[in-house]
Amino acid sequence: MVAGLRPARATVTVDLAAIAANTRLLREAARPAELWAVVKADGYGHGAAAVGRAAFDAGASRLCVATLDEAHALLRDLPDAPLLVMSPLVAGEEDLAVEIDVAVSSVEGFTRLRSAARLPVGVHIKADTGMGRWGMDEDEALRIGAELADSTGPLRLAGLMSHFASSESDADFTARQLERFERLSEQFPPCPRHIANSAATLGVPGARFDAVRCGIAMYGLSPYGGDPAEHGLTPALRFETAVAQVKRLGQGESTGYGRRFVAERPVWIGLAPAGYADGVPRMMSGEMEVLVGGRRRRVVATISMDQLTFLIGDACDVRPGDPVVLIGEQADEAIRAEEWARLCETINYEIVCDIAPRRRRVEHVILDA
Ligand SMILES: *Cc1c(COP(=O)(O)O)cnc(C)c1O
Repeated sequence: MVAGLRPARATVTVDLAAIAANTRLLREAARPAELWAVVKADGYGHGAAAVGRAAFDAGASRLCVATLDEAHALLRDLPDAPLLVMSPLVAGEEDLAVEIDVAVSSVEGFTRLRSAARLPVGVHIKADTGMGRWGMDEDEALRIGAELADSTGPLRLAGLMSHFASSESDADFTARQLERFERLSEQFPPCPRHIANSAATLGVPGARFDAVRCGIAMYGLSPYGGDPAEHGLTPALRFETAVAQVKRLGQGESTGYGRRFVAERPVWIGLAPAGYADGVPRMMSGEMEVLVGGRRRRVVATISMDQLTFLIGDACDVRPGDPVVLIGEQADEAIRAEEWARLCETINYEIVCDIAPRRRRVEHVILDA
């Protein structure tokens, strides 16, 4: 508990020292390319403005977001930050009220921007090299690139970009995308070229070009879904609550919806006030563990909207008020977002993003020591 805060049901703590350390590590891995910090979805649930400021201080030179709304929100806290909006603008958004860089991924998108833009806009041409999602084909990219290189209007050629489909898992396909990007950039007018995400920055030296766009690794999460420590990364997010009550179930008594857990013999259980509305996926019921008293304890009952129940055992070694670590470390044990992702058959990205919208219920603390 940080002094001065009102008591919270649950707390997400974001350690900016970890963000800074990861940023410096990625900056070194990318050198001499620039490091651009990806802070879309409110910084993968960590808080975009605080993370963005820490990333700048540690050597990042641009912040990347998905939407214009995210860019506007960031500019309120970081008015001087160079920004790139990576997803296509929604039709009608092109009349930009701020000086900003945007990715353009289609000829139609470019045409709309050209007729609407009045303030200077840096345009990053997004080419599809195999993602099969946003991005124009090579010929379109070359045509628009040439037009922009000669442009005297508010639009300025600011970059050529693409995005990998499976840089964390498929070296052959990544090499094919890289080859297409190299060929395209050789014919393209000179400008900053960027294609690498976290996995490519850490694992594909040839993919670094002039800048890399790193998200997940900057938060200390593994782009490969394994242990972030293997790559020297430090997780920044801790998710914690506290024991609200302990109670003893008699033989044959159950706890929670659906009576998922029935005591075969008398046992102690602990209740903690965090549930699926706080970002603890219900599908981890019976599977997930929490750290209490420096030990792993299984969450045995069905996870409710607002609370979860963990097994203590025959003897009660837990007291109300004891910290319950959902994600983070306690004594020598650690529970990582990657562990949740495996249980939920998803990726750590989704896990941390889903903790984000609970801010009115879960206290967010930024440690900036
Ligand atoms: C989200 C995103 C990134 C960052 O990817 P990570 O795997 O989190 O490093 C880079 N580029 C684009 C276009 C993105 O949408």
